[in-house]
Amino acid sequence: MPTILPKLGLYIHFPWCAKKCPYCDFNSHTLKEQLPEQDYIQALLTDLTQDLPYVKGRELNTIFMGGGTPSLFSPASLQQLLAEIGQRINFASDIEITLEANPGSVEQTKFQAYFTAGINRLSLGIQSLQDDKLAALGRIHNAHSAYNAVVAAKQAGFINFNIDLMFGLPAQSLDDALHDLSAALSLAPTHLSWYQLTLEPNTLFYHRPPPLPADDMLWEFQQQGQHLLKSHGYEQYEVSAYAKSGKQCRHNRNYWEFGDYLGIGAGAHSKLTLSDGQVMRMSKLKHPKAYLMNPSPAEQKFVAKQDLGFEFMLNYLRLKQAFTWQLFEQQTLLDRNSLAAPLQLAELKGLVTINPQGFTVTDLGWQFLNDLLELFLPKQ
Ligand code: SF4
Repeated sequence: MPTILPKLGLYIHFPWCAKKCPYCDFNSHTLKEQLPEQDYIQALLTDLTQDLPYVKGRELNTIFMGGGTPSLFSPASLQQLLAEIGQRINFASDIEITLEANPGSVEQTKFQAYFTAGINRLSLGIQSLQDDKLAALGRIHNAHSAYNAVVAAKQAGFINFNIDLMFGLPAQSLDDALHDLSAALSLAPTHLSWYQLTLEPNTLFYHRPPPLPADDMLWEFQQQGQHLLKSHGYEQYEVSAYAKSGKQCRHNRNYWEFGDYLGIGAGAHSKLTLSDGQVMRMSKLKHPKAYLMNPSPAEQKFVAKQDLGFEFMLNYLRLKQAFTWQLFEQQTLLDRNSLAAPLQLAELKGLVTINPQGFTVTDLGWQFLNDLLELFLPKQ
């Protein structure tokens, strides 16, 4: 059995939304009938109980309730869920428990009770603070309710909260984008996910694209936006994640550091290091109705040892931090020699600088990240 296993997080997927947004490719479904709240909570618990043998004796460092819109569920249901989870698996004393919430007025009335239920981090899907942009995105909230949501979150006790904000919105000018970002910063979130709207297959926007800003405009948004974020004390630690000191999202960071996670709920994925050192990936049935009838693993497979180095890099190189051998060896159980050949080549190409602890990616490496990643692909 490996002596030190990676940290463990729990992801819980809630697959319903009041209305499907035209750009969204998540496993989310418009709620057309009454929310099957208790049935779903029971399915989640069955799901978790079945998976427990894979995480025996370990403790949860983080829980992330995402979706969909988990805040459609009542505080009482989520409290019950958290209590039942706590009876099955130990929580770390400083566990981070995040809930994704929409900034609609109905959700805001529940924030206080969510906080009392033990949720200690809120992630608000605000996306924009301009009404015309929210309408263009097909969102059901407006800027006023978004501002109110932040006030309600703070009053409820959430000192740790994230704002999701997008740029590259339909007909968005540079002024619009910077105004939006400044408005979000004025709300003083501890964390900001600032990411570009992209047209994903299987979305309404993909089939009927709205007029989006040109690439050179997007580049300008990014340059000026990053400058603004930095000047307000937000450190970029991942491609689209910015945080105040000590407020990085521990749950997401664990994904990028190739940590372990157990996923329960419709379509949820898991990545777990087992007691024999093998890394297993697992997923649950995607459609909510199918999942409700059978919350068992739909697919399970082991990651081949020769793929682990590449998989680690695929995740880790999203982070803006130096690579260390210590973490690599802990997370993959591989020897550092397994990366010697691709790393030497990467250094020869000027993409990384090797040091005794590991390596750092050079500016050239960040510019040609895909080329860097390719070097770690297993040889056939
Ligand atoms: S609210 Fe979020 S999860 Fe739901 S459809 Fe819109 S973008 Fe997707």
